[in-house]
Amino acid sequence: MESASRILVAEDSALLRRMIGDVLRATGYTVLEAADGASALHRARTEDPSVLLMAREMEGMDGLAVLDALRADPHTADVPVVFVTGHTDARDLAEGLERGAHDYVRKPVDPVELVARIRTALRLRTLHDELARRNAELEQLARTDVLTGLANRRHADDVLRATIASARRHRRTLSAVLVDVDRFKAVNDLHGHAAGDAVLREIAVRLAAGLREEDLAARWGGEEFLLLLPDSPDAGGVCERLREAVAERPVNVHGLLELDVSASFGWAPWTGEETGEALIGRADVALYAAKNGGRDRVVAAKPVVVRGVADAA
Ligand code: GH3
Ligand code: MG
Ligand code: MG
Repeated sequence: MESASRILVAEDSALLRRMIGDVLRATGYTVLEAADGASALHRARTEDPSVLLMAREMEGMDGLAVLDALRADPHTADVPVVFVTGHTDARDLAEGLERGAHDYVRKPVDPVELVARIRTALRLRTLHDELARRNAELEQLARTDVLTGLANRRHADDVLRATIASARRHRRTLSAVLVDVDRFKAVNDLHGHAAGDAVLREIAVRLAAGLREEDLAARWGGEEFLLLLPDSPDAGGVCERLREAVAERPVNVHGLLELDVSASFGWAPWTGEETGEALIGRADVALYAAKNGGRDRVVAAKPVVVRGVADAA
């Protein structure tokens, strides 16, 4: 694990760079080298070193300037920096630490101390990466519906808002679809809640399989799904295909049951003006009409009557 670590050594004295490089290579690290501040910054940005060991005093761009530049860039803000310095004044050292250096190695460089400080910096890096990974996982979980793996309601609300803002900015079209499983209560009542859950999971798979990368499928409520179709020239046709995909074959429940399922679809094209709430509201009215019309069908929202246009017609 440690041997996979790449240490960038930035030091303008070729002699010291060589000595430090030899010690680190002998310990098993991969060593990258930079002979001045500017190339240290460049290599740190492009090669993602595990730790940057850097002379604080250098001609031209010095270590503190490189440190500031690294911390200001989100891509490099977390690289642990260990300074090599001839300074021994405590106030001087404190300044570097306050600006975000992780540690110091004082000249003359002692090989044992050097390796110990690099190890600590690497440990920090590992902990930091692990934390970042877990945070990303938690964020993903917070957006996901546990049962179906689709986006949850909260995430769908965020995407709806963002998609409408983007459609408005780029003058794009957008359609919203509400899907409600037909007579789903009966599945629970006749076969139990676990069977109901299995049906919901399978319907989610069938819906998601029929969508494009840029579409959203979300669990909107109990047995209700929201689909957002940006730039979809034929949203009604998409709904019709999805309706068929849901109903075309029974759902196999845990290898024990085959259940016929269907769903009703209500969809509405965005007017270019309305809020997400209003758009969903119109899809919901269409869904209600699909239910009343006998279920297992697609109903489009009635066109919004725009005052003036209607008068002229
Ligand atoms: P309709 O065709 O009119 O939509 O009838 P329906 O039976 O599907 O509608 P209703 O709203 O009466 O019932 C929905 C049922 O969905 C009731 C509720 O218990 C069930 N449900 C909601 N969430 C879940 C869930 O996560 N798992 C299971 N198994 N059932 C759920
Ligand atoms: Mg419902
Ligand atoms: Mg239902």
